[in-house]
Amino acid sequence: MSYNQISASGTIISASNPINFSSKEIKNLIFNSLNLNDYSFKWTQQRSQPYQGILFDGTNNIDLYIYAWNMTPAYRNNPSEKRIQIQATVNNVGIDRPITPTEKTIILGVYNAPIDYPLIATWDTTVNRGHGQKSCYVQIEDVARAITDGIYCTKDKNNAPIYTMKPSFLGDYISLLQASNKLNLAKPYTSTTTPLSKNVMASSLPNRKKRTIRKITDIQNSIISLTSTEKEIICKQRIGQGLFKELLMDKYSCKCALCNISIKQMLIGSHIKEWSNSNDDEKLDVNNGLLLCAHHDALFDKHLISFNDDGTLLISPIISPDDQISLNLSEIPTITVTNEMKPFLNHHRSKLKR
Ligand SMILES: [Zn+2]
Repeated sequence: MSYNQISASGTIISASNPINFSSKEIKNLIFNSLNLNDYSFKWTQQRSQPYQGILFDGTNNIDLYIYAWNMTPAYRNNPSEKRIQIQATVNNVGIDRPITPTEKTIILGVYNAPIDYPLIATWDTTVNRGHGQKSCYVQIEDVARAITDGIYCTKDKNNAPIYTMKPSFLGDYISLLQASNKLNLAKPYTSTTTPLSKNVMASSLPNRKKRTIRKITDIQNSIISLTSTEKEIICKQRIGQGLFKELLMDKYSCKCALCNISIKQMLIGSHIKEWSNSNDDEKLDVNNGLLLCAHHDALFDKHLISFNDDGTLLISPIISPDDQISLNLSEIPTITVTNEMKPFLNHHRSKLKR
């Protein structure tokens, strides 16, 4: 039988349903999705539904109860409808547990889209409780929106939100989940304003900072036997690749602040006040960073150049006039220095090599 499906290019076509995942594949998908973006997730029970695990979201260890099935075509005339079937055997084991910051129950459908990742839909637990076998429905067009939107919200007949998402949003969804399948968003969401994905990421950012700090602390503890230089390199790489760089990519429009190089692989989130001397807030404060290409990062990180509060360049006297020419230092523009950046720059200037 043909139903509406998502094609490899993300459009809707008429085709047979994709091959279902095995329950092992579904559990692997959940596990991998919940260990992205510095979330950490461990299973505590994965023999039968609801699967159980503990998700650390930066603030809370969340006891997670997970119901998950493949999305298959619904037995109705609407060719776009997909459903999961909540099996009768799992019906009385607490699908409608209260949702609190430390205990959450989620209902997932997974769709084996012919793209790099499967797509996920989530339904309200409260409207799907306590009666025989029950199907949860979603339109395949709404599932496809996750490809372009990252995370997308639609409504069921009871006006309960249904979310469709890429796996990378599953942790944020759970972290922000409140009763009635609503999300604890920093700004009220209307589909006409900021895309939901931006709102979700902004709402998750405080917890993400905490997770990043904890992860780096874990890494530091695990490499305690290395020399301080080796430790610094590893932490720098971790930060350079991670959240701090993302924040600075946004602030500096993906270009080196000093030369406009925009090759992502060459760009580094460079701390003004060094990581090792920064407190947790300062470590991930965008005001404490410049997005720099590799060679400008090397100069700045080694305190061979710095900046005055008016944004003009300071050059260490240990760089010879010839090297200054080779390095094109006369081409470095005046940078924008905000008031929030000044204390960090002041610290950096004090370390300029003399
Ligand atoms: Zn540069």
